[in-house]
Amino acid sequence: MGIKRRTKSVTTMLSIFESGEEALSVVNLVERLKNQMNKTTVYRILERLEKEGAIHSFSGTNGLKWYAKCSQCTAHHHNDIHPHFECKDCGKVECLEVNIPIPSIEDRNIQSVDVLLTGQCTNCMI
Ligand SMILES: [Zn+2]
Ligand SMILES: [Zn+2]
Repeated sequence: MGIKRRTKSVTTMLSIFESGEEALSVVNLVERLKNQMNKTTVYRILERLEKEGAIHSFSGTNGLKWYAKCSQCTAHHHNDIHPHFECKDCGKVECLEVNIPIPSIEDRNIQSVDVLLTGQCTNCMI
């Protein structure tokens, strides 16, 4: 990976992603880090980590941007073709470890797929 030097802010951000399996929204991250860095820094670090292949982003309901740790990506090969799940009851968002086959469509160059599944998570089904 092309990561040379990491600032304290970058390390802090990464440790948040590494501590859990859940995805985090931009709003959530800004709120969580408000005593350590400003909003602009949060955005800048997220952009950088995404470019490096450490995290990936996707859209949730209402167009909210979410970020999650990448399990198999590198900066050169983004491997994000998996669906995301958003619980309508508790708002939890997570990556689903299943592959979505990309349809090959004539005359179209498909570059990304954004699949959001919504419903109830394990905790909310009871
Ligand atoms: Zn839930
Ligand atoms: Zn994901």
